[in-house]
Amino acid sequence: MARQQTYDVDQLKARVETAKTALDAQLNALLHTEAWTQTLKSMAVLGQTSIARFSFRNLMLLVSQRPEIHHAATFQAWRALGRSVRKGEKAVHVLKPRFAKRAAATQSADEADKQLVGFSVLPLFALEQTDGAPLEPTVTPRDFAEPEAFAHTVEQLRNAALASCPHVEAIEVRARRDGDSTGAYGWFNRATKSIVVLTDAPPHQQFATLVHELAHAILHGDADHHSRARKEVEAESTAFVVCHALGLDTASFALPYVATWANGDVEELAAAGENIRRASMVILDALQPPQADDEAEERAAA
Ligand SMILES: [Zn+2]
Repeated sequence: MARQQTYDVDQLKARVETAKTALDAQLNALLHTEAWTQTLKSMAVLGQTSIARFSFRNLMLLVSQRPEIHHAATFQAWRALGRSVRKGEKAVHVLKPRFAKRAAATQSADEADKQLVGFSVLPLFALEQTDGAPLEPTVTPRDFAEPEAFAHTVEQLRNAALASCPHVEAIEVRARRDGDSTGAYGWFNRATKSIVVLTDAPPHQQFATLVHELAHAILHGDADHHSRARKEVEAESTAFVVCHALGLDTASFALPYVATWANGDVEELAAAGENIRRASMVILDALQPPQADDEAEERAAA
């Protein structure tokens, strides 16, 4: 009883326009409300059906259609996970870019051989619209009461960063020394490709500092550090997402209102959101056991 949805051309165009309008409204609303923290919490849900696996714009689009949504997948993907969409459930939609091959004459070696020509919609269903096998838990909550647990997590991040981030060659967690900046609990030095985290703060705060500096290295490693408010927002928001996902205390985070740092610019907001989402996924994936993702290609495209 597959109920794969099909649309005629006019219907498809209308759905794409509806989705674009909803996305604009959602981003504009985010600019002018205090909902940033809630947005970051939406990014902090893990697993292959997590809506954070989609682009930031599609994540916003999903939240605009179902504010409580945390997991979404196609009809077929839910089946593959042992769950079926309940009869009569209405799909939510994300925008899926459509590409055309570039003409050979205009194609250079570095240029992508495909050009964005428009969008189609991809119908998805939320977890709560499905029945069946329980989703495998994918979050391992962290508790740094045991020093070993903290050391292990730091080691995991260190190994992942050294293996995959070209802007990190050393991560040092050490006691404060004479000459260290009195106002800082850690820093990323772009020139020496090193991250330092000081141990004179509680472990959960040391961890947040490490993630913050790692986000700078991932996102800003090849550009000037600390030159713009947006870079601080990106690093601190990434730390918030990662700490929230791991069940760590986030009460001490003070994130400025979007209206302040994005200057009313929706493009700026969406670009920052995408950076935060990307850095958070890189770091959270490094802290979780690897898992198969059958939809990897489809999600990358969406
Ligand atoms: Zn910073």
